[in-house]
Amino acid sequence: MRIILLGPPGAGKGTQAAGIVEKYNIPHISTGDIFRKNIKEGTDLGKKAKEYMDQGLLVPDELTVGLVTDRITQKDCEKGFMLDGFPRNVSQAEQLDTFLKEANIELTNVINIEVDKSILVSRAVGRRICKSCGATYHIEFNAPQNEGICNVCQGELYQRADDNEETVSKRIQVYLDETKPLADYYTKKGIISNINGEQSIDNVFKDIVAALGSEK
Ligand code: ADP
Ligand code: ADP
Ligand code: ZN
Repeated sequence: MRIILLGPPGAGKGTQAAGIVEKYNIPHISTGDIFRKNIKEGTDLGKKAKEYMDQGLLVPDELTVGLVTDRITQKDCEKGFMLDGFPRNVSQAEQLDTFLKEANIELTNVINIEVDKSILVSRAVGRRICKSCGATYHIEFNAPQNEGICNVCQGELYQRADDNEETVSKRIQVYLDETKPLADYYTKKGIISNINGEQSIDNVFKDIVAALGSEK
């Protein structure tokens, strides 16, 4: 199974990714997570990426595409993989296609999680993430049992620097301009499933599993 998760910021990609990789036992490749790890570790890539992320802009393709194609080349991706947050524009999608073609690999599914713009800001602004294990919560829609503490590992929860109202609004605009056209791109390839992301987390998951179901 080789899956792309598509959807605007706050759609629920990370939340659903956790369930999908567990169920299908494939690696979860999140470009946002990779950039945040590099920022935390103070690498050159992290320093460069941060300038764009803080503004809600896309990190340039030159810093992004190689990162993903290198990752896909690793051994654990032989059994399949799930891309979350990549590709983010048509150029990235085309470069991914070129790479996959040369490697003789085909994508099996694109899961497009659709959520109206009006809901996205409150989703992202209320998001909290575990410092230790990366689990995602929402202060209102998916609250942890104890405020500020992870249910899974008791780790401390934090808020992403770019999850403020201004940057989230910018990211939603960038999504509409640059990423949304990918839905057409993958519809033409016949591998997209559109999922209603405005349902409960469990029901969104059920719809995703139904869409992936018949695949190996
Ligand atoms: P993305 O990775 O697409 O940006 P996340 O999975 O991080 O989105 O979800 C954004 C926020 O919305 C998180 O706080 C998450 O707990 C919450 N969330 C995710 N799915 C739902 C849902 N179906 N209903 C309500 N809140 C949700
Ligand atoms: P969200 O799903 O909430 O938008 P992500 O964690 O996927 O958050 O991305 C956070 C930020 O990381 C983006 O706003 C962007 O600056 C950068 N980023 C992540 N993936 C990509 C990508 N494929 N291309 C360019 N920039 C990216
Ligand atoms: Zn945790």
